[in-house]
Amino acid sequence: MVASEATPFIKTGGLADVVGSLPPELKTLGQEVAVVLPWYRGARVPESRPVLGPAPLWVGQSSYQARLHVSEVRAVPYYLVECPEVFDRDGLYSPPEGQFPDNHVRFAALCKAALLVARRLFRTDILHCHDWQAALIPIYLRSVLARDPAFLGVKTLLTVHNLGYQGVFAKYELAGMGLDESIFHPGFAEFLGDVNLLKGGIAASDAISTVSRAYAREIQTPDYGCRLDGLLRERADALYGILNGVDYSVWNPETDPHIAANYSAADLRGKAVCKADLLKRMGLPGEAAHRPLIGIVSRFTGQKGFDLLEEAAGVLHSEDVSLVALGAGERRYEDFFRSLAAHLPEKVAVRIGYDDPLSHQIEAGSDLFLMPSRYEPCGLNQIYSLRYGAVPVVRATGGLDDTIDSSTGFKFEDYSARALAAALRAALAAYANPGEWRRLMLNGMAKDYSWRKSAAEYAGLYRRLAPESRPGPKTST
Ligand code: ADP
Repeated sequence: MVASEATPFIKTGGLADVVGSLPPELKTLGQEVAVVLPWYRGARVPESRPVLGPAPLWVGQSSYQARLHVSEVRAVPYYLVECPEVFDRDGLYSPPEGQFPDNHVRFAALCKAALLVARRLFRTDILHCHDWQAALIPIYLRSVLARDPAFLGVKTLLTVHNLGYQGVFAKYELAGMGLDESIFHPGFAEFLGDVNLLKGGIAASDAISTVSRAYAREIQTPDYGCRLDGLLRERADALYGILNGVDYSVWNPETDPHIAANYSAADLRGKAVCKADLLKRMGLPGEAAHRPLIGIVSRFTGQKGFDLLEEAAGVLHSEDVSLVALGAGERRYEDFFRSLAAHLPEKVAVRIGYDDPLSHQIEAGSDLFLMPSRYEPCGLNQIYSLRYGAVPVVRATGGLDDTIDSSTGFKFEDYSARALAAALRAALAAYANPGEWRRLMLNGMAKDYSWRKSAAEYAGLYRRLAPESRPGPKTST
């Protein structure tokens, strides 16, 4: 697998959770799997040993000093690409302000290093690439490396975690990525005069997957296809939807070390302790313990649908309810949440930033969990919420639609403030009925979205792609 982030090393979003938990689960199913990741400045690497280099890593006409290290996590080797010129910076994809002008080179370096791992350290039958940052791999294999004997018969799977991020660069950057104009046509990586790496990856991969069945359907339509719906329809036979699993060793109220009291479906008493603790932490009054508490943990981007909450904020004024939100991202949404908290200090508290323990405390302390996403490839927080007894209120899209039903939460279809307000009011009405509420919570807590089933689906897809793969270890460090 090749990806730009993975827990426990570095995380900005759901991709990291997937690349941190799917490989160990595949391993338990008998797959041999290794992962290649950048070694960013901010990465936390528990233990590692150097395995290759320092040596020049060629990307186009330039070479960068690089060294490969391996760190084993739950019996899976994670190869970390130490290449200070491109990865030793503040920020993964952009600096705190502005942009990195050389992301095409940075992630080309990741892909080149991954191919080096496949050549020298971990022979592979399948290169499973995640998102545009790894999409150069199938592009190289179908172009400049098409005749390279090291990769003859090697299959590629590209998993799209979010079609909204495509890796688009100017045509003159082709050479900088080690590519020539042969890929620059509408049937491959060209898109409206630019180079689109995700598009090229979708065109070049043996199979494509995305992270829920509903999203796999949706992205074949103009509304959700981010202008690649035509290509995705063409590739429909090779397009799969496999729901992300969650790691219940990390997200489990029975054992979670971050929360004020542990609890379970059999004994919910700890949840009230968590709620009181959360209110206190966020500076909300103790009396709020008697009101329903809505939780939000999210990146603050247009995708997440908070413009609907902005329009439906009247519900927070008129209803007896509190809200805690944790997130960071676009200034516009950060300002909205700040001003909401300023207008309703007794009811609303917000923390701008990234805070892993607090995200657990919000799941544990909240009664409801709000995700009004415009689109949501899979979404993890609603699945965590189920296990924590925080009843999800979600827009019926992508993975939210696939994981929540009327026995576990509240869904609305229409992307409108009115539909959101109606779903919230329905949830608040249900909360007023303790028996009904308890049933919703317990139904959700009993759901099992662990990786086992989804990892088995990936393993099935790998077998379909490479039926002749030889069993047994392939490592040769
Ligand atoms: P996405 O990948 O689009 O951000 P997901 O729901 O798939 O959305 O995954 C988000 C992951 O990132 C979850 O594990 C969530 O807890 C975490 N997360 C998002 N924002 C924050 C934040 N501000 N602080 C802590 N964790 C966050």
